[in-house]
Amino acid sequence: MPELRKDPILGRWVIISVERGKRPTDFVSPAQRKKGGFCPFCPGNEYTTPAETLAFRPEGMKPNAGGWTLRAMPNKFPALQIAGDLLRQGEGLYDRMNGIGAHEVIIETPDHSLSLATIEPKAMEDVLWAYYMRLADLKKDTRLKYVLIFKNEGDAAGATLEHTHTQLIAMPIVPRTVRDELKGARDHYDIRERCIFCDIIRQELSDGRRAVSENENYLAIAPFAPRSPFETWILPKTHASAFGPIRQSFSSLAGIFQRVLKQLDKTLDVPPYNFVIHTSPFNDENNEYYHWHIEIMPKLTKIAGFEWGSGFYINPIPPEDAAKFMREAGI
Ligand SMILES: [Zn+2]
Ligand SMILES: [Zn+2]
Ligand SMILES: [Zn+2]
Repeated sequence: MPELRKDPILGRWVIISVERGKRPTDFVSPAQRKKGGFCPFCPGNEYTTPAETLAFRPEGMKPNAGGWTLRAMPNKFPALQIAGDLLRQGEGLYDRMNGIGAHEVIIETPDHSLSLATIEPKAMEDVLWAYYMRLADLKKDTRLKYVLIFKNEGDAAGATLEHTHTQLIAMPIVPRTVRDELKGARDHYDIRERCIFCDIIRQELSDGRRAVSENENYLAIAPFAPRSPFETWILPKTHASAFGPIRQSFSSLAGIFQRVLKQLDKTLDVPPYNFVIHTSPFNDENNEYYHWHIEIMPKLTKIAGFEWGSGFYINPIPPEDAAKFMREAGI
């Protein structure tokens, strides 16, 4: 059973995932991802993965077999696991909790050669529906407080399998990064009685220098203080605290999301990247002060000693230049 432990100074939780237990030698040099080897995510290999939690395939076809266009399932090597009771324990001044949660994989396409940027627009809409449906399902588990949906694309961004996939981790606490954002947003709301993200959207729309892409419902920007080159955020233009479709449709989000990924691919020659979806916690889903968004971070620089020790990031590309390069990609 994995375990959550809390740093008593910062209040930061870490996951000690004993199931993933490794020997020191496993860390000496990062294992190279095998290219072209056996792929558990390709059609025909469904028997090698845990049973599906969600799949899209034509009606009448059997689950956990071929014919699918999208599949979701528990991670075979989960960082947190779903079975058991949530136990909180103290040990002197330390706090720990057993690692209850869920760790799932969403395979967005049966085609091994495609990426989120290159799947069909309709398939991208399905991906967003899958995220939404898994969130809605996991929300029913009262032990869970938050679900983080994220993607590691490319070796340098931490992907261990070549076949494109998204992951989600559902956890019994609200993660620190989200708590920090919630606090900052609430502080702004307390003073101005406005959502800070809505204020940012207004300012970026009128300024334009950091705008990357825009459609009827969404805006993509290079944030004013990005941690890494070409960091890009996608936000709904109308206030919405929790991730979800606008008027029962994900088509405009699919459109801008793929456009931004294509702009990044074109500008940076298919870079490794991570993205996360930040949304309000389950116990406070509808509020006036927090605004859900997607953060995309190309992995172009390494987090090194200074960043680690100081929490400062050094970014060699101003966001105004990054946004300009992306707009000029002509996508
Ligand atoms: Zn594959
Ligand atoms: Zn807002
Ligand atoms: Zn965020």
